[in-house]
Amino acid sequence: MSKRKSFIFIGIFVLVSLLNQSQLNAKHSKFLETMVFPVKNIMSHFYDDWGEIRGNGERVHEGIDIRARKGSPIVAIADGRVNTVSFTQSSGYYIAIDHQNGWLSLYVHLNDDINENDNLGGRQTAFADGIYLGAEVIAGQTIGYVGDSGNAEGTVPHVHFEVRYMGKSYDIYDYIKVSWERFERFIKFPKKMGINLF
Ligand SMILES: [Zn+2]
Repeated sequence: MSKRKSFIFIGIFVLVSLLNQSQLNAKHSKFLETMVFPVKNIMSHFYDDWGEIRGNGERVHEGIDIRARKGSPIVAIADGRVNTVSFTQSSGYYIAIDHQNGWLSLYVHLNDDINENDNLGGRQTAFADGIYLGAEVIAGQTIGYVGDSGNAEGTVPHVHFEVRYMGKSYDIYDYIKVSWERFERFIKFPKKMGINLF
């Protein structure tokens, strides 16, 4: 792709994203406002990398990467039903959960290692017990484990987290940030929470 073409491509993408975003906000969804933060033991603060241009300008990053220690539990952000438990070359091991009313969450690059970076793991290192196609899950339930499978091989272990509404991916950074703040206060530091509240 020429520079000029990529520039136009990025411009159109930004416009479409802005339109999408306002459509989503208009829904004023309780779903997004109540979601549980998807990862335990995060290593560094995540940022709004949704929409970053990657792969030499050839693809748009439609998700948020959350770095965490390898093997850290990944939890369902809301109640739902397992829609996909699979593996592809690029995504590695990944899970999708259908939350009904058009909402879907995705958790990508799950753990494929047993020791260090041996890639000898499989479904057992990637997915939690009881996670199979059609299984019902509840908000906060462990569904899988952080890793670097697929095209994340060689990167800092992270989960590529994505929320889709009616099949389209959206930048839900503002909501995930709030869910992290909730997690940090009420789950990670419960004692401190008590002091703060009472
Ligand atoms: Zn990603």
